[in-house]
Amino acid sequence: MPFADVHTPSISLGLLQALLERGGLRVRSEYANLLYADRLGALASAQIFAGRGCHVGDWLFCSAIFPGRIAEPREFAAFVQGRRAAHEPDRLARLVDDLRDWRATTAQFLDELAERLVAEGAPLVGCSATFLQLYPALALLKRIHERAPGVITLIGGPGCETGMGLAAHRLFPWVDYLVSGEADDIVVPLVRRLLREGRECEPAALPAGVRGPRRRLAAPAADPPAEALLARARDMGGHPTPQYADYFAALAELPRLQSAISPALPIEGSRGCWRAARSPCCFCGDNGARAEFRPRPAADFLRDLDELHRRHGLRRFVATDNMMDLGYVQSVFRELARRDAPYQLFFEISACLERDAVATLSDGGMTWMQPGIESLSTEILKVANKGHEAWQNVQLLKWRRQYGIRVTWNTLFGFPQELDGWHAAAAALAPALSHLNPPRFFHPVMACRNSVYFASAAELGVSVTPSPAYARFLPFPPESLAELAFTFESASDASARGPCDGAEALAAGVFVWQQRFRRQPKPELVMVDDGEILSVLDTRDREEHIALTGVERLALLLADEAPPREELLAELAREHSAREIAEALEGLLRRRLVIALDGRVIGLVLKPPLPDLAGDEEIPSGYLDRRKWRASDAPPIPSTPGRSSRT
Ligand code: SF4
Repeated sequence: MPFADVHTPSISLGLLQALLERGGLRVRSEYANLLYADRLGALASAQIFAGRGCHVGDWLFCSAIFPGRIAEPREFAAFVQGRRAAHEPDRLARLVDDLRDWRATTAQFLDELAERLVAEGAPLVGCSATFLQLYPALALLKRIHERAPGVITLIGGPGCETGMGLAAHRLFPWVDYLVSGEADDIVVPLVRRLLREGRECEPAALPAGVRGPRRRLAAPAADPPAEALLARARDMGGHPTPQYADYFAALAELPRLQSAISPALPIEGSRGCWRAARSPCCFCGDNGARAEFRPRPAADFLRDLDELHRRHGLRRFVATDNMMDLGYVQSVFRELARRDAPYQLFFEISACLERDAVATLSDGGMTWMQPGIESLSTEILKVANKGHEAWQNVQLLKWRRQYGIRVTWNTLFGFPQELDGWHAAAAALAPALSHLNPPRFFHPVMACRNSVYFASAAELGVSVTPSPAYARFLPFPPESLAELAFTFESASDASARGPCDGAEALAAGVFVWQQRFRRQPKPELVMVDDGEILSVLDTRDREEHIALTGVERLALLLADEAPPREELLAELAREHSAREIAEALEGLLRRRLVIALDGRVIGLVLKPPLPDLAGDEEIPSGYLDRRKWRASDAPPIPSTPGRSSRT
């Protein structure tokens, strides 16, 4: 995995290492991503990671696999520049030079790393490949195979599951074994067998989900469907605590990088997504070919928290879950709250949470989360099959601000059936919400492999083709690119359709919202009620004090729970006339103390005191301080740092 985030260890490697060690095997995890990042330095790393859909890292590593057979720097730079055009119009010549430098650095890095790994004498080298790691991993395994053909090579992970994995195994013949799916139950017997029998294991002796060299070119007709090549862990209980010692050992030898990293510890609460198991969001391909949800026992999760803290002295944890098991609110967070919240946690989580659940999560130490908000338009949420409405998203942003939980969320556009006016309506809401956490990005939606959009493109009347980057870093015909690709573009992508007024208004609104929320002190909208007068402080635009009495006061208090408009009117009508009620609601709407959405009246005012939100550097998923790293950057070092061999 030479190309991955550096601020956390890898849970894939950590869990596999722990399983293998429990099975009595000697194993070491190589954190090549740390070495590579250190070699490139802060500036180059940031640029290589930047740019959605550009695949600069894939191009660099594929240049080492296929020298002279893929796009040269000038052509690839023009492609990247086209994707980034709105932001960096004058950088083409500089980017061409950068790509040449990075390509040379990458090739040298791979040579030295492969040399050192081969010198360690391990009989088997395996790579874990999530989505941006497949081609870097293939490049490393190629170098190892060229130097030591006797070393058995192995690859697995979500970046090479089922059909993608079969294609990679067929087209990259230096990979001996492919593991498609979950290796938890099979990794120990598989490695034992490979060490015993060598490269040419009998295909029939391999566990489900594993493809070896003798089946590399099997006639497709003789094979079960690619989707059937998928190993599955039988039981989510009883896993060992992941082994992260090699990450910290590697980091300790890279002082410039180490000084800029506040690391976090990955931890697993579940696999899959309970929404996807019922009815997935249309664009989502994160849950692989098998959409099922399996939580780990809460006791195992709590044990891992304590054990990892004991080993590494850290309190920041990032859950690798695609969607937190809602049972954890009571089983994990209530327990952590009872223990005075000893850890800070980050989870991806449902957007449909009640106020009490958010309070419990906060009490238990969840300081940051990523809910599946995706849009402030119910129409867009419907076409995305999100399963909830926009008013719930607003309520969720309110409760999280009320209880001091920072939120990472994105708003998406470019759905095949969307209308531009839906974005315009969402844009109109944004100024009223500037005291709540803004979206991080305004992104076009992508059609990923395994998503409904990918599987049902024909029904939706759109054509789906591999993202154009693939043809620039892989020298294969279109049918092979279609097998290997994970991200796709469709004819109805917003990026292909060009600008739209509503979407542009929302992009501008999101930008202003982000600027306002960065202000210190942050914008506030809070109220204190003495039973007769409701005093509101509004600092969203300028500081304003508002005193509400009578029907206005009552309407704002009731709107806190976002009641349907008819229910609110009926409640207010017990003591007030229709005219009084209409005037009160009109006044609240005009002052943006409430908004009307989805037939509901949603109060936006919170109750003081508002807890401080975590700063950027306090994010529990780990933080890389790029400024600090850049300040400590020395000129590139001449070779891969040596490390003590601990096999
Ligand atoms: S986007 Fe999130 S909620 Fe939707 S299917 Fe994917 S993981 Fe589940």
